[in-house]
Amino acid sequence: MTERIDLRSDTVTQPTDAMRAAMAGALVGDDQYGEDPSTNRLQTRCAELLGKEAAVWLPTGTMANQVALRTLTRPGDEVIACRESHAAWHELGGAAANAGVQIHEIGQGGRFSADELRAATKPRNFAIFPSTTLVEVENTHNRAGGVVVPQDEVLRICAVARELGLATFLDGARLWNASAASGLPVSELAAPFDLVAVAFSKGLGAPGGSLLAGSKALIAAAGRHRHRLGGAMRQNGIFAAAALHALDFHLARLPEDHANARVFAEALVAGGPVLLDLATVQTNIVVFHLPATLAIDAPTLSAQARARGVLVNAFGPRTVRAVMHLDVTRAQCQHAAAVLRDLLAA
Ligand SMILES: *Cc1c(COP(=O)(O)O)cnc(C)c1O
Repeated sequence: MTERIDLRSDTVTQPTDAMRAAMAGALVGDDQYGEDPSTNRLQTRCAELLGKEAAVWLPTGTMANQVALRTLTRPGDEVIACRESHAAWHELGGAAANAGVQIHEIGQGGRFSADELRAATKPRNFAIFPSTTLVEVENTHNRAGGVVVPQDEVLRICAVARELGLATFLDGARLWNASAASGLPVSELAAPFDLVAVAFSKGLGAPGGSLLAGSKALIAAAGRHRHRLGGAMRQNGIFAAAALHALDFHLARLPEDHANARVFAEALVAGGPVLLDLATVQTNIVVFHLPATLAIDAPTLSAQARARGVLVNAFGPRTVRAVMHLDVTRAQCQHAAAVLRDLLAA
């Protein structure tokens, strides 16, 4: 049997034996009563790491985004976010269904400027406009290929937001990767924002969980929205223990994934016909495009690669995403790139 190299997402990782042992031994209590010691420890540790007063556990990053939007907006408001943001593309319209807001996408390639934000912001209390009340930044930006948003741009965006009276939210599901790539601590990346979301189930390799951090008042409000959406859990310490273990043992190895992504991307473009700007390969994600001159499209390439043991995601008709993570080695990434190049050459 050919070995299976799964590059569809950094969420496909298996918990390690050591992580499972940490989960098995976790101290637990009823988290709806605030009595789960492991969850409390994780929340305190992450609030500190992220430089915020408080933090609250959420079962998924999707719920973290829904809760953040609910906490910082009112139904009928408009939220400005980068084009192809997760909240607009990957959450089944949850922003509209759960928070009652519409998302106005601006910018390109995972980024937008403070000037673009200013131009897109609608005035409040105008007869026919929805009120723009929140700006969201996604860092790293998934669909743009895991690019890191430059922090000087973030500072300008958040300064304009304050000037215009907009709340600020950082979707940092992969903020750990942004920190590893930029060398800036997550607290600095999160500092200009009212609320920040981080995930444990992506590059950190835990089986689940996200968290929102912010002021005590905002986190108390977020906790109420979490409960309303059905996200308040009981003996959650089993999950929290996995997240704590990931912070101890997996956080520091993220640069390996970034190096593997670069090796994969360079091997893929070497002499191959794919459209891939290597400057976008900054973290663990590689998004590439198939030129119109190629007969093969992304779903076909993905299916043929699967038959040869390499799993990648067709992200669009001619767009493919591959994600590196702790369950793939350098050699497997090189092999996967060779398989894709073979198929593209055929
Ligand atoms: C994965 C992801 C989410 C959602 O996380 P889930 O745990 O899969 O619900 C939110 N934002 C970004 C940028 C993501 O990549």
